[in-house]
Amino acid sequence: MKYETVIGLEVHVELATKSKIFCSCSAHSFGAEPNSHVCPACCGMPGMLPVVNKRVVDYGMKAGMMLNCHINRTTTFDKKSYYYPDLPAAYQTTQWFAPVAVNGTVEIETSGGKKSVRIKQIHMEEDAGKLVHDIREDTTHVDFNRTSVPLIEIVSQPDLSGAEEVEAYLERLKTLLRYAKVAECEMAHGTMRCDVNLSVRPEGSNVLGVRTEMKNMNSIEAIKRAIEYEVSRHIDAIENGTEVLVQETRRWDDIKGKSYAMRTKETAGDYRYFPDPNVMPIVIDDEWFDSIKATLPELPEVKKARYTGEYGLSDYDADQLTKSIAVCECFEDAYSVCGNAKDAANWMISEVMSLLNVKKMTYDMLDLNGITLGELIVLVSGGKVGRANAKKILAAIFDDPSIVPEEYAKANGFIVSNDTGLIATVVKETVAADPKSVADFKGGKEKALMALFGKCMKQLKGNCDPQVLRKILIDHINGL
Ligand code: ZN
Ligand code: MN
Repeated sequence: MKYETVIGLEVHVELATKSKIFCSCSAHSFGAEPNSHVCPACCGMPGMLPVVNKRVVDYGMKAGMMLNCHINRTTTFDKKSYYYPDLPAAYQTTQWFAPVAVNGTVEIETSGGKKSVRIKQIHMEEDAGKLVHDIREDTTHVDFNRTSVPLIEIVSQPDLSGAEEVEAYLERLKTLLRYAKVAECEMAHGTMRCDVNLSVRPEGSNVLGVRTEMKNMNSIEAIKRAIEYEVSRHIDAIENGTEVLVQETRRWDDIKGKSYAMRTKETAGDYRYFPDPNVMPIVIDDEWFDSIKATLPELPEVKKARYTGEYGLSDYDADQLTKSIAVCECFEDAYSVCGNAKDAANWMISEVMSLLNVKKMTYDMLDLNGITLGELIVLVSGGKVGRANAKKILAAIFDDPSIVPEEYAKANGFIVSNDTGLIATVVKETVAADPKSVADFKGGKEKALMALFGKCMKQLKGNCDPQVLRKILIDHINGL
């Protein structure tokens, strides 16, 4: 018999706010001392009162709009009760009855074609702390730095049918949320985590099979392997009776390549959801709603069409540039100054991106001022600075945003000289010192001219218009 796989995802994304969701502690504690970013509120001390971080609601709404959701104009927080040592209040403040966003869609494309994945809801909630196991001491410590860091949980409908669609969906979420600048979405950093709900049923059936959930997957490769394993485990159980499938939560061990039962799945009733009396309902009025709507970015495919159409860039160039909103913004600013889209695209793709690679930075980490880059491009296209020296200036402005390209060029002797007298002197000396190249060139070897050209350019420290040098050089040799 043929089977089909039915997958729904719950994706937790850490929002890129400065502070936590209900207190003013910093939300960024990577590498910090354990329990150094905590206060009575996020440690769940008795009597503490949460105060909602408005930026979290801004970002929750924005994420909802990016995913074509309906925004609930009155959104509320609820308590989800469960006990675990990394949850100091013994309940998580989350959204159950009126999440910020509902009923959205995400468009994906795979080898099987285009597909629309329905989003059930996006809710805002607080993260839990971290348990740190010390094997040598055989003890477990708890670090509350991550407690109350703001998350959104994006819950899809069971519309995905395999690993390829899951990957396309996660990539699309990442792109949309990064474009909106609400989240980093880096699985390797734990700022995007994924729970996979999976069941298997005979092809064409409309009855769902027994569903299992794998929690906190943190790499796309691991998710793909886990899905493959679970699918064959389910089919084996159905066809060969190898085990009885039960609804449960499982842990994926990526090293062993196996999933293990953790606990039978809780139902909503187990969590005893009830409205959090300490957090007032949040009413989103038209003014607030519209102010967030006004900040929505142009979608990547819309940008790409503009780059190829309006700007006349190639498909490849437009693809490269639209991979990251940071790159798009730098490019667009540089273009606004230099007025030449192809020039700006070339500088971005061949020079800026290779600098990022050398520095082992992702495109999203780009922090270069596009206006400054535009000024540099103008210096080069106007013949004021040679290309080799311009690369040195780029490396400098990449590290120090306060540098003004023209001032830096002047201070470092990078301004192209229009002193034809000086060029002629250098040409005369260089040619006199290399009779062999001169003879080779006269004998028909074009390469010999390039050797002489290179020597002259070196003498002039690159500060010379190549066309001018070339003409003076050829004229001089021909006049010998
Ligand atoms: Zn706190
Ligand atoms: Mn959650």
